[in-house]
Amino acid sequence: MQKRGRLKGGFAVRKNKMALVSGGSRGIGRGIALRLAEDGYDIAFCSRSGGENAESAREEIEKTGARCYQATCDVADHQAVEAFIKDAERALGPLDVLVNSAGIVRDNPLVIMPVEDWNDVIDTNLNGTFNFSRCAAFGFMKRKAGTIVNVSSVAGVYGNATQTNYSASKAGINMLTKSLSRELGPYGVRVNAVAPGFIETDMTDRLSDSVRKKALGMIPMRQLGTVEQVADLVSFLVSEKSSYITGQVVQVDGGITL
Ligand code: NAP
Repeated sequence: MQKRGRLKGGFAVRKNKMALVSGGSRGIGRGIALRLAEDGYDIAFCSRSGGENAESAREEIEKTGARCYQATCDVADHQAVEAFIKDAERALGPLDVLVNSAGIVRDNPLVIMPVEDWNDVIDTNLNGTFNFSRCAAFGFMKRKAGTIVNVSSVAGVYGNATQTNYSASKAGINMLTKSLSRELGPYGVRVNAVAPGFIETDMTDRLSDSVRKKALGMIPMRQLGTVEQVADLVSFLVSEKSSYITGQVVQVDGGITL
């Protein structure tokens, strides 16, 4: 457990470590933000649209006793990401953990995939991960501390029909993870990725009954995963318990890729 913030001489003295989660208003990012708050981190998170989802996520996080900074920020916009990190650090102190979870799907067979959908998925998933990593890495190097976890997908390891954009973005994230782990390892900074299979979120709610049935048939555990199961893995990967693990893409998929 991290230590909680305390008041000393009337000023808030920073005691907690700070974790930043992109896409923390819903789904996997929200589950990770909550789990890290329960682990004792103060939490900064962004989403694209803010609103009720972001507000209720913030309330849930604050109920754990953690401090929370949340704002809208398009992860595809490098300048916005730079400003978001600065504001989050001003509110909560220097960043200790970065989790890149914001992501979208725009599925279609390649031959009819709108160019815009290709670009949106690469911009959000891959460029968003680059933007946050680039803005966070220098501070981590200076402080010789910090860890990054990128939320990838099994689609980025094995490929998936109708998901050329999504699979390419996630494969890019996997190689960004491995390459960056080589760059930052000498500074004591670890970089890993988690690759979920089918997880119950708004993203998979959109699956048709037939696709869902087919997926369940392919999963040896015969069930979709939960955000908590992904969050447990992220909690481990940012903790001291994984202090010699870096550059890995760890699958959490009920065995779908066996
Ligand atoms: P989700 O329920 O649709 O939530 C996506 C989150 O990302 C929301 O908070 C959303 O904010 C945010 N987001 C999207 N685009 C953004 C942008 N441009 N800038 C800032 N925030 C943005 O998705 P999920 O299922 O939790 O997926 C989370 C991550 O897990 C993604 O990277 C996804 O690829 C990966 N993943 C999911 C599954 C699965 O089965 N669900 C499997 C493998 C990997 P708004 O609400 O404001 O749009």
